[in-house]
Amino acid sequence: MPAPPDPSRDLQARHAELRARYADLQARGLRLDMTRGKPSPEQLDLSEGLLALPGNRDHRAESGEDARNYGGVQGLAEVRALFSGVLGAPPEQIAVGNNSSLALMHDCIAYALLKGVPGGAAPWSREEIRFICPVPGYDRHFALCETYGIGMLSVPMTPRGPDMDAVEDLARDPAVRGMWAVPQYANPGGETYDDETVARLAGMATGAPDFRLFWDNAYALHHLTDRRPALRNILEACAAAGRPDRPLVFASTSKVTLAGAGLAFLAASPANLRWYLACAGKRSIGPDKLNQLRHARFLRDAGGLERLMEGHRRLLAPKFRAVTDALARALAGTGAARWSEPAGGYFVLLEVPDGCASRVVELAAGCGLALTPAGATHPYGRDPRDRTLRLAPSYPSLGEVEAAAEVIALCTLLAAAENRQAGGSGQV
Ligand code: PMP
Repeated sequence: MPAPPDPSRDLQARHAELRARYADLQARGLRLDMTRGKPSPEQLDLSEGLLALPGNRDHRAESGEDARNYGGVQGLAEVRALFSGVLGAPPEQIAVGNNSSLALMHDCIAYALLKGVPGGAAPWSREEIRFICPVPGYDRHFALCETYGIGMLSVPMTPRGPDMDAVEDLARDPAVRGMWAVPQYANPGGETYDDETVARLAGMATGAPDFRLFWDNAYALHHLTDRRPALRNILEACAAAGRPDRPLVFASTSKVTLAGAGLAFLAASPANLRWYLACAGKRSIGPDKLNQLRHARFLRDAGGLERLMEGHRRLLAPKFRAVTDALARALAGTGAARWSEPAGGYFVLLEVPDGCASRVVELAAGCGLALTPAGATHPYGRDPRDRTLRLAPSYPSLGEVEAAAEVIALCTLLAAAENRQAGGSGQV
């Protein structure tokens, strides 16, 4: 009679085969970096025309203002009008900052800590305060909280947005003063908040009268497919719910024109905008209006913006497809991973078996592929289940992305096999 199959021998053979394939990949001497969602050089080339603008003797804004000079803290009217649709706010409720929306978020937090916000009784720094953090989320949001001693309360993301029962529960605490939200093509999961989530965020009761929703719409224009998500307008929803001062809306052209030399925006209620401009007017005599003029000349109108984003999509969509196709080829049906198929934004979220994410990062590094550190998607850099990975395919070339995806898939299989050998399930 033939001997019954020995499952442990099967596992060992499978593990040995994966190790051999891993050694082959190591021998290729790859040097790849998928750590951050940076635009590629080809994407930056789409906006090369900016560098010649506004050009000699072109320095007058529509208002007649000389863009070379001091002043104009709110930003040029034509630029605010151009981005009014993206921000979902009338031009008078928009301020244009310099090149970083993260800097605007930082400044709003710093002003709130030092001076308080409209509707608040005191500066936030007088008490221990906390923010609600949808998880997985954006590491730099968490780093801002950490650096200023703002406690972080995690709530899980769902395909429709953050778990709203959990959010509403936490928001009742008066120490909870804020919440992070990346409402469209979220970093890193790619989710877009649905209408009910937006309505509940706008309408929910908060223990703090000066609660602020940091609505970071970084990926408002960054579609990877023909579909257009219909994200509900948060400023309108909050105003309709009688809480016009709740949201602070942020966006930028970092991933539209030039990541290091774009424009950033804040849109908010009239009271919030007055507050911001009063604070910003102390910080600086005015923003770089020549860069604003340059952007107005280059982009022209909403159609110009759309055509530029189509150029980005042509470069980005094949890279995202290369990642998800490679993951599907290697991992579908194995139970060793789950991943997002984002319709926009800059990231693919990969979930691996509990306890395996840091091992996948380590194995990938062993093949010359740098990944975002495991844990970066969670407050304090700690993913309690060590299972979440953020993949950023924008910067490397298509060929490099294909090679990197192969490495990630193999490292996931190997980590899952090790996990099984150590007595884990090896399954997500
Ligand atoms: N918000 C989110 C959600 C992001 O993913 C990024 C870039 N990775 C930023 C903000 C940074 O924006 P900016 O370049 O305008 O500072």
